[in-house]
Amino acid sequence: MTARLLPAWTADDGAHRAADLFGATFGAAPEGVWSAPGRVNLIGEHTDYNGGLCLPVALPHRTFVALRPREDRTVRLVSAQESGTRSVSLDDVGPGTVEGWPAYVVGVAWALVAEGLASRDRAVGFDVAVDSCVPYGAGLSSSAALESAVAIALDDVWGLGLGADDAGRSRLAAACVRAENEVAGAPTGGMDQSASLRAQERHALLLDCRDGGTRQLPFDLAPVGLELLVIDTRAPHALVDGQYAERRDSCEAAARQLGVATLREVTDLQGALSALDDPVVRRRVRHVVTEIERVARFAELLQGGPLDAERVAGLGALMAGSHVSMRDDYEISCAELDLAVDTATAVGAHGARMTGGGFGGSAIALLPAGSADRVAREVTDAFAAAGFARPAFLLSPASAPAAAVSATSG
Ligand code: ADP
Ligand code: MG
Repeated sequence: MTARLLPAWTADDGAHRAADLFGATFGAAPEGVWSAPGRVNLIGEHTDYNGGLCLPVALPHRTFVALRPREDRTVRLVSAQESGTRSVSLDDVGPGTVEGWPAYVVGVAWALVAEGLASRDRAVGFDVAVDSCVPYGAGLSSSAALESAVAIALDDVWGLGLGADDAGRSRLAAACVRAENEVAGAPTGGMDQSASLRAQERHALLLDCRDGGTRQLPFDLAPVGLELLVIDTRAPHALVDGQYAERRDSCEAAARQLGVATLREVTDLQGALSALDDPVVRRRVRHVVTEIERVARFAELLQGGPLDAERVAGLGALMAGSHVSMRDDYEISCAELDLAVDTATAVGAHGARMTGGGFGGSAIALLPAGSADRVAREVTDAFAAAGFARPAFLLSPASAPAAAVSATSG
């Protein structure tokens, strides 16, 4: 069976799509178009809320927003991925007050004010049209791409000046996290928004969730004959919300029992494990502590020099160890993710692992350049033989963060 790689739109194409939708809906030209990427995490899963390390890259796949400020407090919204036009007053936005996808947009406007980054006077309403090539619900953070595109747009049209440097971008990311947690009601950690706003092209973003510190690590695959394939399993997410909260709760309970602020502070894993009596909690803690260690070793390999065969083998081994830890200790994998990882590894990946929150979503495979089509075909065939839904694929060179695409006033 053939498999197709989902192309990323060019900046021009995305900008035209969003601007055309804006014109057709609101009968005027937008002030500009801004865009922000989805993300894929190389390693370090369920570590963010434990004060740990993670290592995302920005996807070439982006969400585009065409936007024009208004003089009143109304926000009118349209998205090519959703039906109908919506209208919300900024005065009515707060935790639990906005239904559906507009919460990700107006939530950012609300959070910029709530975080003290924009005064209420500056926070005027706006018209906005959204279009995106980031797959929904694939664990590739279409939600953070939308929030980050809106944040960088409002930063410009409200004149906040935060997008100009990394310190400002980290504050925009914090506002986006607040929008997602409080207004959209999704209890996610901070990785996704930081990746979308702060990751650099040809680099992976080492994010230390204990203090929000970051380092840009070289991750330029093409010149060293590598490519990163993302496999969207399309597995139906079952019970995801409850499972995420359950994992998070058990980590927090374990940290309390061990007398540390977060599991990041565990320095003696064996000691910690023998102080915990519940075997399930012990496995959860072992995943988090060993996963943080794997991220640190992965980061050392990326920084230590060119990606020669030995380093690539080291990266692959860490990816494989991460997958086994998520499958067996954290128990967040599923049959589709395991089959994607096992098949990619069997047909020549240097390493593969599930990525994102788990229970479906995507896996990644680090491949010799030029083998993505073949690996995608093998995974597609294996899924068909197992009776699973047809998976989707995309390539992810480490791409650029949220930015203006064009700022023509009209
Ligand atoms: P993920 O972030 O993994 O893709 P989420 O469930 O966190 O999955 O976010 C998906 C939700 O984000 C969608 O259901 C929708 O509410 C919102 N969203 C993301 N992208 C868009 C878009 N282009 N237009 C409108 N809403 C979007
Ligand atoms: Mg999301």
